[in-house]
Amino acid sequence: MNYARPDIQAMTGYTPGEQPKGTKVIKLNTNENPYPASPKVTEAITRAAQAGLQKYPDASGTAFRMRAGDVLGVDPDWILCGNGSDDILTIATRTFVGENDAVRYATPSYVLYKTLAEIQGAVQDVVRYERDWTLGYEFVAPAERLKLAYLANPNSPSGTVLQPGEVAAIADALPCPLLVDEAYVDFADSNCLDLVRTNERVMVSRTLSKSYALAGLRFGYVVAQPAIIEQMAKVKDSYNCDALAIAGATAAIDDQAWLVENVAKVRATRGRLAAALGELGFAVTDSQANFVWAVHPTLSHEELYLDLKSQGVLVRYMRYDHWGDGLRVSVGADEQIDALLALLAPLVRGR
Ligand SMILES: *Cc1c(COP(=O)(O)O)cnc(C)c1O
Repeated sequence: MNYARPDIQAMTGYTPGEQPKGTKVIKLNTNENPYPASPKVTEAITRAAQAGLQKYPDASGTAFRMRAGDVLGVDPDWILCGNGSDDILTIATRTFVGENDAVRYATPSYVLYKTLAEIQGAVQDVVRYERDWTLGYEFVAPAERLKLAYLANPNSPSGTVLQPGEVAAIADALPCPLLVDEAYVDFADSNCLDLVRTNERVMVSRTLSKSYALAGLRFGYVVAQPAIIEQMAKVKDSYNCDALAIAGATAAIDDQAWLVENVAKVRATRGRLAAALGELGFAVTDSQANFVWAVHPTLSHEELYLDLKSQGVLVRYMRYDHWGDGLRVSVGADEQIDALLALLAPLVRGR
């Protein structure tokens, strides 16, 4: 089949984390929330389904934007809804970046940025994180035709965070708009929402997939100044969020008490997981997300991953060019983490 555009044929495409069939596998590989979402979400979706789905949904997800606006302290016209925040990243790329324009992102980070650049036919300006997960001057250096920079904050796979002041300095120095991908921000101590108010070139994207335990619903959003939202709204699919997702997402963001409790549980388990991996000899990066990045000084990460997988525990084995590899372990429920640690201890000590 060689009718497809040559640059599409040349792509490998984004590979999502494994989603095994069956419920026996302990899944610690895609940063899903181990706990079920607020029961109010299911109620709202049921009500929306019972009301009937014969009509098109509200094209801009007004109900969600009103509720989220209250929660975040911004006007609803500062919010654009997406079919997951991956949709938001796609919309931003298509809004700002033309063929042969350049995009900038750091590595190791979210692998989708590369895929989006490739689909758009854009030049990729990839900046390597320093070993301590800070960013050097190259991230803000001027470059020809640079139209958009993506910054995952907290970053994946490291879980590290740049403070709002550092991100503000990056945004000011960059010659192009900056999309701060805050997929994991609810698990962190700080966020960059305030930067949007003062800097017309900053966008902050969020998702309900991780902290609201709704990866299956597909809902994300971006907060930016209305002039940007207006342009991005032209690019999105007319009905990019369905009626059930809008109803569920609105109920989810309305239940902040659920969020606070869930985030506290995940953060507590994160601390326990990081400490236990440290005791097993891993170097564990301080994480502000719902996963930890663990590197063992001597053992093969790939073999550890395969051994765990053969015993029913899936973690994410990550290997980055010119960087190295490691294991990214999602913060599961306490008993899932106990099961992982019980399997890992003999694997680590036996070698
Ligand atoms: C999970 C994730 C997203 C996207 O999540 P959606 O499920 O599409 O909302 C975006 N950025 C990063 C860094 C992520 O890890």
